[in-house]
Amino acid sequence: MTKPYNFYSGPAVLPDEVLEKAAQAIKDFAGTRLSILEISHRSKEFVEVMQEARLLVKQILRLDHHKEVLFLQGGASQQFFMVPMNLLRKGEVAAYFDTGQWSSRAIAEAKKIGSVEVLASSASSQYNHIPKVWMDNPQLFQKTYSYIHITSNNTVFGTQWSKPLLENLFEMANCPIVADMSSDLFSRELDFNRFGLIYAGAQKNFGPAGVTLVIVDKRILKESEKQLPTLLNYQKLIEAESMYNTPAVFAVFICWLTLQWIKRRGLENLEQESIRKAQLLYEAIDDSTLFKGTVSKEDRSRMNVCFKTKNPDMDKLFLEYCENNNLVGLAGYRTVGGFRASIYNAMPVEGVQKLIQCIKEFESKNGIN
Ligand code: PMP
Repeated sequence: MTKPYNFYSGPAVLPDEVLEKAAQAIKDFAGTRLSILEISHRSKEFVEVMQEARLLVKQILRLDHHKEVLFLQGGASQQFFMVPMNLLRKGEVAAYFDTGQWSSRAIAEAKKIGSVEVLASSASSQYNHIPKVWMDNPQLFQKTYSYIHITSNNTVFGTQWSKPLLENLFEMANCPIVADMSSDLFSRELDFNRFGLIYAGAQKNFGPAGVTLVIVDKRILKESEKQLPTLLNYQKLIEAESMYNTPAVFAVFICWLTLQWIKRRGLENLEQESIRKAQLLYEAIDDSTLFKGTVSKEDRSRMNVCFKTKNPDMDKLFLEYCENNNLVGLAGYRTVGGFRASIYNAMPVEGVQKLIQCIKEFESKNGIN
């Protein structure tokens, strides 16, 4: 049986060549005759991996010299509280956009640390769009916030901040923008230097679970945070070059391999491919009389395509049909239901075409057309 097409939302599909190299390194890492699982993180071979991985991030995203790159643990969820711990002082306020599950969690955690305002929310419409009321309300931005937090792609609801929308935010905001890019970093070109801080769990577009990438502009770090525990202090982690304690050696190694693959493919090409894959899939859903997209067209994610049948009883049958056709991971998030096709960088166009074929076949077999 051939390997299934993997539509899971994260951990998610990785390039085959990365998996092959990883398998090899489990036996013999970099000619050391030691496994990557047993070598010291202070060995010269691994220190090189860590340094090169950080450099690759800078090169691929064209980061300027103000940016520092960290590989940390604790998941993107740890950043929900590390960001305010480091950037939100007493007496200051941080502003958040609430675009669903992950932003809501980021807000809840930040509230435990300091003062938070929600600039806009799409909660009342089941997070089916990115709220835009703020665009007609420049006075919202008159107050000085320590930062504004967004979730660039909502993995659960399948919404994404488009480039024009981000441009608008950059124009209107007068403070650093912090972005949770867990599910769309390395899938499109953006001016990454305009962000104050970016964080992303690796397990969607560029690695396995266990490591979180943080890109921080040194200029936004605050002197007053000296009392923070060292492992939660960006400044200290920067000084230690992400090696204050034992890093997630194997996970960083896989990121390093994947980043090489991303660099070779080119971010621009990956973005074009991602546009094509998403277009094909959304077109098939829009053409269908059985399936229906769940998100406003202008905010549709290119990474997580969410849809459902008009008849919820059909959902289970369709999932079974997909599994029988070697397509896995298509169930929607547990609190949302329906379907979610995660089509990250390593998902080949053929996987998307196969899904489209299943959508069409299922529809005609069920006598809808
Ligand atoms: N933010 C987003 C956008 C996510 O998709 C996820 C996980 N799916 C998280 C944060 C939480 O990440 P982690 O599980 O690495 O803490």
